[in-house]
Amino acid sequence: MKAQGKLKPPACSWCGRELEASTRGRPKKYCSQSCRQRAYEQRNNVKGTSIPHNAVILHPDRAEELIDKLFELRCSAEDIATAVEEHEDPRDIRQLCNELVDLAKNVEQLRIRE
Ligand SMILES: [Zn+2]
Repeated sequence: MKAQGKLKPPACSWCGRELEASTRGRPKKYCSQSCRQRAYEQRNNVKGTSIPHNAVILHPDRAEELIDKLFELRCSAEDIATAVEEHEDPRDIRQLCNELVDLAKNVEQLRIRE
């Protein structure tokens, strides 16, 4: 799903952090040497198994944390809907939107950056 025709900015293939557009050479795949290393280690670890080399393998604690954050995201969207229905000050609604965007950016990073 594309949001209003916006292009998804390039992101690190490991942690999901947004990458700065590279001005020359081929586009970067990872945000850091440590992410490149993690990806390399996982490729080796899953070699010879049916697990895709780029599978997102999460510690159960992290998966639970993500589910909690998705719930927060939903609550935040519901708060905005309520604020609009109740004709709240547009500046307050803008603030709620900023919080929603921050939450979403946080959730986009599936793996914790090290
Ligand atoms: Zn990264």
